[in-house]
Amino acid sequence: MGFFGTAWQVLKSAVDIGRIAESQSELHDEFAALEKRVARLESEDIELRDQIAWKDDYELNDIGLEVPVYTPGPWCESADSPHWLCAHCYDNDKKSYLKPTPGEHIIGQPRYWSCSREGCKMDFVTARVPN
Ligand SMILES: [Zn+2]
Repeated sequence: MGFFGTAWQVLKSAVDIGRIAESQSELHDEFAALEKRVARLESEDIELRDQIAWKDDYELNDIGLEVPVYTPGPWCESADSPHWLCAHCYDNDKKSYLKPTPGEHIIGQPRYWSCSREGCKMDFVTARVPN
């Protein structure tokens, strides 16, 4: 290998080193972008978990209706009066109270109950009341 051959090898190596440095820089940028993305997703995950944290206070209960309802768990010290939540809405991460038809309730008489969320078709008739 003569002078030009050696010079060519040196030049080629320099170009290769330049390419490697360029690739490293690109990889560094991509890694930094991925780190930012992971941090953002972790933050969103925490936010979403906080939004549905209320679900931990409820348990699915078969209270002898056609459909199960969610009731506050015995571990939950809720300030709310006894209530039922719509199981359909719960499954969709929405907290929707089941409401009876307004008016006086005669104990033992069945009442029509429906989900308080507009568009939800959950309804049933029962003489039971949340306790
Ligand atoms: Zn509902």
